[in-house]
Amino acid sequence: MSLEFHVRQTRGEARAGSLVTPHAKIETPVFMPVGTAASVKGVPQDTLEELGAQIILGNTYHLYLRPGVETIRKMGGLHGFMSWRRSILTDSGGFQVFSLNQLRKVNEAGVTFRSHLDGSTHFFSPESAMEAQVGLGADIIMAFDECTEYPADQARMRASMEMTARWAARCKKYFAEHKHQVPWRAVPSFEFQVSGDADPRNPQPEARNPELSQSLFGIVQGGMDRALRKESAERTIEIGFPGYAIGGLSVGEPRELTREIVESTLEHLPKDKPRYLMGVGTPEEIVEYANLGVDMMDCVLPTRAARHGLLFTSEGKISIKQARYAQDAGPLDPNCTCRVCRRYSRAYLRHLYASNEVLAQVLNTIHNLSFYLEAMRRVRAQFSNCADTTAVQGRIEAGA
Ligand SMILES: [Zn+2]
Repeated sequence: MSLEFHVRQTRGEARAGSLVTPHAKIETPVFMPVGTAASVKGVPQDTLEELGAQIILGNTYHLYLRPGVETIRKMGGLHGFMSWRRSILTDSGGFQVFSLNQLRKVNEAGVTFRSHLDGSTHFFSPESAMEAQVGLGADIIMAFDECTEYPADQARMRASMEMTARWAARCKKYFAEHKHQVPWRAVPSFEFQVSGDADPRNPQPEARNPELSQSLFGIVQGGMDRALRKESAERTIEIGFPGYAIGGLSVGEPRELTREIVESTLEHLPKDKPRYLMGVGTPEEIVEYANLGVDMMDCVLPTRAARHGLLFTSEGKISIKQARYAQDAGPLDPNCTCRVCRRYSRAYLRHLYASNEVLAQVLNTIHNLSFYLEAMRRVRAQFSNCADTTAVQGRIEAGA
């Protein structure tokens, strides 16, 4: 098994369903917290579980540079390394190579880039990006694409889209030949070694089930041109993937344009396969995109904003550093039931932030993530309460 996707209910373009990966079942639409370097900054894995994070994202570029794919592979992949039993998705590294490297050199073979850590030179190709992601062992991995910059002229957008399509075919071929090398084994538990008793909830590492495999998703590019997006979708679908992502957005374009491109691209994606919108969204926007028919989303905004003291609440965005909160005894968000809002006052959170306490980042991030995850939970709940729906079923066979 690599992946199963069932659309349970639809309402207009929106849909609710489930995505079954080798590690867990995910209710969709789903928001995926970003754990760039095998860590959602400031939040331990057990807290992520408590918050209801169903799948988290890791960045191949960062993990490849540090600690290195080989280290993670030897630890049984990301699941074993970071002790995460639920699902994981890794990006291909393409976006970071393009966004973090001014000195990159791109040609048909791949991309030569400099490490942002020590300036050393590296090379990513469609094949090596697949090799890295098989070694990292996420449930869902992404094709290596070129994220077209914004703004870009027509010729540039076309050339970039066409190279992404050629790279997608190379990714699929390499992945098909190497996916059996995924390093999965059970997530280790250290708890039982202390007590001396085997914990039945935490099985010991065992031989990998050869039936389980990763899934490779294709990525639609095409810049801000609707016709190129359509062509990119058609070419990616022709190559054939068990899921499709919309990439190359949130690269500096106006928000209305993002929405327009998302909406027009979704029209060309198959209804029976998961659709993943990459790297996008305020809380309002992720709800809007879910209502347009997006099944999966990730964004660094809730975690990054939290570290800057910007908090999303049911009453709007709050900058907790402001002096007006210095003696505010109320909860951060009176309508939020997260562990931060249940326990701490705005005055205390403001003090932690102003004092540069580590706990400020931890608590702020927990609330923001909770707010995002709750927003998606509410979208899913609307389906259960809505009688006027149509049931559609789609099943994706392994290796599709
Ligand atoms: Zn809260």
